[in-house]
Amino acid sequence: MVSDPNDSHATRPGLGTRAVHGPDPDHTGPMSTPIVHSSTFGFESLDAMNDEQQRGAASAYYQRVGHPTVHVVERRLADLEGAEAALLFPSGMAAISSAFLAYLKHGDHVVALDQCYGGTHDLLQWGSEHFGWQYTLVDGREPDRFEAAFRANTRLFHVESPTNPMLCVVDLDRGARLAHSKGALFTCDNTYASPIGQHPLAHGADLVMHSATKSIGGHSDLLAGFVAGARQAVERVWKVRKVFGPMPDPALAWQIERSLKTLALRLTAMNANAAQLAAQLSTLAGIRQVYYPGLAGHPGHAIAARQMPLGFGHVVSIDVIGGAAAAEAVVNHLRLIRHAPSLGGVDSLASLPAHTSHIQLGAEGRARAGIPEGVIRLSIGVEDAVDLWADLVQALAKVPAAVR
Ligand code: PLP
Repeated sequence: MVSDPNDSHATRPGLGTRAVHGPDPDHTGPMSTPIVHSSTFGFESLDAMNDEQQRGAASAYYQRVGHPTVHVVERRLADLEGAEAALLFPSGMAAISSAFLAYLKHGDHVVALDQCYGGTHDLLQWGSEHFGWQYTLVDGREPDRFEAAFRANTRLFHVESPTNPMLCVVDLDRGARLAHSKGALFTCDNTYASPIGQHPLAHGADLVMHSATKSIGGHSDLLAGFVAGARQAVERVWKVRKVFGPMPDPALAWQIERSLKTLALRLTAMNANAAQLAAQLSTLAGIRQVYYPGLAGHPGHAIAARQMPLGFGHVVSIDVIGGAAAAEAVVNHLRLIRHAPSLGGVDSLASLPAHTSHIQLGAEGRARAGIPEGVIRLSIGVEDAVDLWADLVQALAKVPAAVR
């Protein structure tokens, strides 16, 4: 079972145990939180109703404001991230955009990574067109140049680590120090590492966002997201959720609770498979480079080892000799690993970022962000590694000699 070495277990159960039982386990009653299918709640008196309404995000007054089944999973997510509070959303982009809306007004400036998820690029572009946000993209591989991108009006420094799909590792302590020295907030999309794989708040982040569609949901069968941080910081995001209305359904909260119980188990297996395959793929002809922070030669290896105490994640990217045509041949010939966007599920997936997560950057933008056209992103699941290996070997062998 996964256990964070920083957990003492003396004062409270470890992460793996809390992922199963939640932060305040009840020894009696149902094993899973009952789904309260109610969008509104009745009160004995006006005073009682007003009191409940005053409880804001923690209330059970009207579903868009707060909901008891949703609260339970929000408490579990906050606990696993080491946060005071968390808010569940119906998608990762709903979480990220609500956080940005909460902290950015017209004319504010954002520094973000060139390597950020394509949807975050879309959000920044949309915000610049409709809300007058300004933004500068920095190359995650060149941290010495981050500072030059800050302006007097910079309000957010937004990062991912490791990044999608090139697994570039950002030193979170250093990023937080830089943002705070400039009077900006430091926000981190922690989707790749998961709330038990890395704790950005402990490294100085002000807010953490997730696409819970990925390893938290873990079965490629739901869309969800969350934001976590200090209670006051999250309160501003809650106001956005209330105003714009991206409130999750209680059944989604239940699905997330159910998935969290196996998160540690799944990640242990996925991380181990990914580490093994990354090492094996490094020896295979037909591959120009393997990107995985667990490899000793990866430029972010030492930082990842410090920031990711539970392992280096389940995503391995490979740059195939022969570029886009070779990568296309590989995904077309995979038989076990599915060619599909997304990541973090128990089923292994392969995708071509040039056609999925980073399509909107165009070839020029991808070149700037260091994403070769021949890159295949592999999200490694819980299958037997030997079968995944055999599938990759046979698919790589199908690349026509003419494109190699
Ligand atoms: N952040 C990262 C790193 C992602 O990979 C994704 C989706 O792929 C998102 C955010 C967006 O999440 P969702 O699709 O749940 O809105």
